[in-house]
Amino acid sequence: MLAAPKINAFNPPRRTLMGPGPSDVYPEVLAAQSRPTIGHLDPLFVAMMDELKSLIQYAFQTSNAMTLAVSAPGSAGMETCFVNLVEAGEKVIVCRNGVFGERMRQNVERVGATAIVVDNEWGEAVNPADVEAALKAHPDAKFLAFVHAETSTGALSDAKALCALAKQHNCLTIVDAVTSLGGVELRVDEWGIDAIYSGSQKCLSCVPGLSPVSFSPAAVDKLKSRKTPVQSWFLDQTLVMGYWSGTADNNAKRSYHHTAPVNALYALHESLRLLANEGLEAAWQRHADMHQVLKQGIEGLGIQFVVDESTRLPQLNAVYIPEGIDDAGVRKLLLENYNLEIGAGLGALAGKAWRIGLMGFGARRENVALCLKALEEVLN
Ligand SMILES: *Cc1c(COP(=O)(O)O)cnc(C)c1O
Repeated sequence: MLAAPKINAFNPPRRTLMGPGPSDVYPEVLAAQSRPTIGHLDPLFVAMMDELKSLIQYAFQTSNAMTLAVSAPGSAGMETCFVNLVEAGEKVIVCRNGVFGERMRQNVERVGATAIVVDNEWGEAVNPADVEAALKAHPDAKFLAFVHAETSTGALSDAKALCALAKQHNCLTIVDAVTSLGGVELRVDEWGIDAIYSGSQKCLSCVPGLSPVSFSPAAVDKLKSRKTPVQSWFLDQTLVMGYWSGTADNNAKRSYHHTAPVNALYALHESLRLLANEGLEAAWQRHADMHQVLKQGIEGLGIQFVVDESTRLPQLNAVYIPEGIDDAGVRKLLLENYNLEIGAGLGALAGKAWRIGLMGFGARRENVALCLKALEEVLN
């Protein structure tokens, strides 16, 4: 028999998370998560899910009936959109200006579809003119897929303009809003987004592991008219909807699909409730304001931003590592001496940039002040 290992309870330190996610979780959200677990078909839990759905609809600014939280992180939200909507042999125009656009391309290939890639430089927004050219060159394309807020570089793309182009060319849109939701303006219905996914651990400041997703009626029609079943059983939304649909007083309609992550859903409910109480527009403004404060301090230290101001994300600040500075060494000192986490560069920016997140609960003056003070001291 294998001897029982003697291991102490895990007690993480209290860090300040200013990387690309997870972000600092609201204390109220951590408290919500530790409340008693109840059955996932308990009428009280079902009523909580109904509220959660309306909170997700508010955050996305959509009245889409098919709006829910996938029981897995943002990557599963991405996969949910591709495996449900795209069928083998179809053509998808995929915009790639960082790590997550490339992941979209891989998702397209894995469902047996063809990805037409529109490349833009790392640190640049997706260029609508390039997308328009691709749409014209491929009139048989069925989808346009792009990342609204590219967390690997800190660039914000014009989702409204890109969706308008897609509509003109009869394409459905698949939009990654993992980092944008709650941090910058996002209007799913007004902009005509067909399929969108996000994550709990970025600007929502919830615990990691859940992915809010919404499909427009046109996306639902596409799903219903599939010629083949969705390849993934777990992510098949035609099955999941049996659990998320129905109402508290119509419990019979809800059928077991998988055991919902009950406590994590309490946490998401609380984080979205906090967002609704603050108001979306106020939250967007707070992120913009905190970016301005950070920017002044960063530029005061002589550090340059990667992304041009016109397309820069307030919640994800990619900055060039100053000449002659030890990337990993600085991040280690910040973590050990200040309990502060900032993000390393990813992909083409690995070793060249740091990524400073101002996400959700983390977009506060105290955090900006701590980050600037710590960076100044460590760099000196
Ligand atoms: C973080 C992130 C993802 C992946 O989310 P996970 O929760 O880590 O799976 C996808 N897209 C973007 C833009 C992200 O920032």
